[in-house]
Amino acid sequence: EAEVKEHTVVILPTPGMGHLIPLVELSKRLVRHHPGLKVCFLIPNDGSPSKAQESHLRSLPPSTFSYTFLPPVSFHDLPPNTRVETIISLTVSRSLPSLRSSLSSLSRSTTLLALFVDLFGTDAFEVSREFNVPPYIFFPSTATTLSLIFYLPTLDQSVDCEYREITHPVRIPGCIPLPGSELFDPVQDRKDEAYRWVLHHAKRYPLAEGILENSFAELEPGPLKYLLVDDPSRPPVFPVGPLVNMEPPSSADNGKSSECLRWLDEQPHDSVLYVSFGSGGTLSTEQMDELAHGLEMSGQRFLWVVRSPNDTVANATYFSVNNGQREPFEFLPSGFLERTKRRGLVVASWAPQAQVLACRSTGGFLTHCGWNSTLESVVNGVPLIAWPLYAEQKMNAEVLTKDTKVALRAEAEGESGVVRRGEVERVVRGLMDGKEGKEVRNRVKDLKHAASKVLSVDGSSTKALAQVVRRLLDAAATSSSS
Ligand code: UDP
Repeated sequence: EAEVKEHTVVILPTPGMGHLIPLVELSKRLVRHHPGLKVCFLIPNDGSPSKAQESHLRSLPPSTFSYTFLPPVSFHDLPPNTRVETIISLTVSRSLPSLRSSLSSLSRSTTLLALFVDLFGTDAFEVSREFNVPPYIFFPSTATTLSLIFYLPTLDQSVDCEYREITHPVRIPGCIPLPGSELFDPVQDRKDEAYRWVLHHAKRYPLAEGILENSFAELEPGPLKYLLVDDPSRPPVFPVGPLVNMEPPSSADNGKSSECLRWLDEQPHDSVLYVSFGSGGTLSTEQMDELAHGLEMSGQRFLWVVRSPNDTVANATYFSVNNGQREPFEFLPSGFLERTKRRGLVVASWAPQAQVLACRSTGGFLTHCGWNSTLESVVNGVPLIAWPLYAEQKMNAEVLTKDTKVALRAEAEGESGVVRRGEVERVVRGLMDGKEGKEVRNRVKDLKHAASKVLSVDGSSTKALAQVVRRLLDAAATSSSS
């Protein structure tokens, strides 16, 4: 009898917790619905400490999951102002030799069904094909952004100026009209290397066998309708979202995280505003001060994840969650902790967010609009205050306030770009206590039900994922019999 080799899906996450977290959720669903599948993470990196990544991966059962950090690549040759999209892309392209040797050794012991890369991982496609392994893209952000990626080569050809200078809104297929200035960050400077990288990837998306999109039809009807139309110029798109962590905290979580969950348990239903800017977001010193005063003035309960401010970049903690030379609390207005201690809790750097959003007392989320954060809020029916900082977050904020209508927008003051304390007070009260808050709350509750439906056994996202697995198994059977 022929030896039956096990089936393995290889996942190549690019740097950033926001990329790893949904890929881990994807892989959990893969093995839950398709027993016998194994998942192997191969992790390109630059050798910087990735404790958060590692502890996240360690929580997976080793019987089905394995992970390897590829040999670190070096960025010593890059100028100091190199943009994050360039660094992410180079992390992958410089890891190709080690990816090749890993795939070579894996393929001796297991049948490799697919290589999943995320949004900036297209340079791994050829290596994958060398081993006859079909490459797929897992797209961790909105269908709107995915539609923009497909549209970018056309936009690039037809527009000469910077996109923010276009005088009319940009019509991305299937999407609401968006001002050019709100398109995602790496396309805002067309002379920068990062723009060339994004365009490079965009032109290579058609080379994927398929694209898994972390969204669902009720959340983004327009762009998904467009992306699901059969079009020979695009690989098929499978809406498999919302893929978010919905499990209770593991016992490995440290005491600090359970402290904030305990505090939340003592607060009234829907009464607490959770304030956090994702794994990378940082505010300026001035902005942090305004936010603190505004929260205090609102008189609402809050749980705030504070980071030491950074006055030059908004994504200062993107690669490492532990950048603080000085304690973040030192930057709060004097007396703030004392004055707000009866209704506010402030935690430094990191909170168990998925669990925080699942608490009954969490009634609102002031967020940078990272897509994972947004989905985590939606599956728990928590309405949002949109406070975008970087990457594609401004686009997300537009969609969430104007199209999906699950968010109120915190408006920055004209030239300064700073959201003033009075505006913070207004929008926080509006969400937690006002009529406009009620509307977005009702809307997000509807989407919560829709999300749980698409993820159920017969739901559209479960079916889309099953369809992907079927394709992988069929392709593997065909190639082994030929
Ligand atoms: N996260 C968390 N605790 C924090 C900050 C972030 O658990 O204090 C998690 C959050 O739940 C989400 C991810 O990190 O799953 C952040 O992803 P997102 O796409 O929202 O933003 P990014 O960090 O990529 O900007």
